[in-house]
Amino acid sequence: MLRVTDLARLLVQSRVQPGMTVIDATVGNGHDTVMLADAVGPTGHVYGFDIQVDALANARTRLATRTNVTLHQVGHEHMASLLPTTTHGHIAAILFNLGYLPGASKAVTTQPDTTLTALAASLTLLMRGGIVSAVLYPGHAAGREEADAVRAFAATLPAGFGTLHTSRLNSATPAPELLVIERLG
Ligand code: SAH
Repeated sequence: MLRVTDLARLLVQSRVQPGMTVIDATVGNGHDTVMLADAVGPTGHVYGFDIQVDALANARTRLATRTNVTLHQVGHEHMASLLPTTTHGHIAAILFNLGYLPGASKAVTTQPDTTLTALAASLTLLMRGGIVSAVLYPGHAAGREEADAVRAFAATLPAGFGTLHTSRLNSATPAPELLVIERLG
């Protein structure tokens, strides 16, 4: 089945070059973090955020000996203050995979208010041509509320940003959506 997470990955890989700096805003078990670390290579850098210690431990194992990743056990709403100021305005891609981590506690899920804070911060961090990729999960009640908030945020962006938003035409239950925000070049 076609998945929006695969689409997000392809889009990021098409924009990110070796040496660039990127952010994984929801590290989870670290699958996307590994993909990002390999895309930016040893001369680039990945900053990762997650609030779950177990998830970050799994991510560290998965990242193995890669040295181009800095993981913070801190909410992504604090990303701007944790990134070196030299990176502000120079981030090529910021990934959000919202909701809860499959297999872990459903009680630990991203929240609309902190997600919106992090998205607003992301806009200040992007380079020209940089993208924010957010996978939304409107299939459950909390995810629906969050997806509504993120879509509303993206509908009122300042000048200089563009958006792309996927939809499925025949899905019985609300399917995951990919929302991309681009800082225009
Ligand atoms: N639903 C996705 C996986 C989402 S993982 C899927 O099906 O593939 C979401 C991750 O975000 C979890 O690991 C969770 O711990 C993390 N998270 C929750 N709140 C966060 C926050 N404020 N900052 C950073 N990460 C957060």
